[in-house]
Amino acid sequence: MPTLIIHSPTLNDAQHTLLNSIGELQPKNNHFRVECAQIDAEKLFELRQESELDINLLPEGFNGSEVKLLISDMDSTLIAIECIDEIADFMNIKPEVSAITEAAMRGELDFEGSLTQRVALLKGLDTGLLQRVYDERLVLNPGANTLIESLKKQSIKFALVSGGFTFFTDRLKQKLGLDYTRANVLAETDGKLNGSVIGSIVGAQAKADFLNELCAELNITPNQVIAAGDGANDLLMMNAAGLSVAYHAKPAVQAKASTSLNHRGLDAILDFLD
Ligand SMILES: [Mg+2]
Repeated sequence: MPTLIIHSPTLNDAQHTLLNSIGELQPKNNHFRVECAQIDAEKLFELRQESELDINLLPEGFNGSEVKLLISDMDSTLIAIECIDEIADFMNIKPEVSAITEAAMRGELDFEGSLTQRVALLKGLDTGLLQRVYDERLVLNPGANTLIESLKKQSIKFALVSGGFTFFTDRLKQKLGLDYTRANVLAETDGKLNGSVIGSIVGAQAKADFLNELCAELNITPNQVIAAGDGANDLLMMNAAGLSVAYHAKPAVQAKASTSLNHRGLDAILDFLD
């Protein structure tokens, strides 16, 4: 029987009545579950609209108790900003750069090409400004700390993968105690950015490859992985995982992900593990 996850610790009367009509509501840790008859995408959409809650169907064959790895995108998923847009802001070229970022995240531009174009615009930037972006602009999305702490207690690994830069993933790994990271390396000479990245670009395929490499290293199957992202360049990685979470994501990403969160913070991902 399909399982519906209702990502809310409490329900008001209207929500309770609506959702109890689908099947018996089972209270769990911070969420509810309903074992229900087959439910189609249209009905799910209606329930989400009417209840104004995050509601997801567990993918077939996925078993939350067997999850060993969460792999997450960084910009606009683990953290609330797009680092490259904030770097550009310090150079007074944010509108140009964020227009390219937006188009790439919607899937209208090929990610590798768009990154090359944006990094070229950063040429000459004093690398000290990257530290200022980290210190002054970078904030975690809601629920990030709760999610990470709980995963540690459950011995589930956390991998951070980004089409952004190692400058930021390295610092977050250190600060949050993450297990694995992969991102692009900005080339620099004498404290200034060269306008290029070193080696091949971490784009959509590299993110999916990272997931598969980690499965081999941990001796687990992709079905034991949850992948979270918000952009078109996360879809190959998300598609490879047993459960994918579109986190406050573009419509094109939500349409292809197995689950979506649009109201709750990152800690709602824990509801899938019960
Ligand atoms: Mg992103």
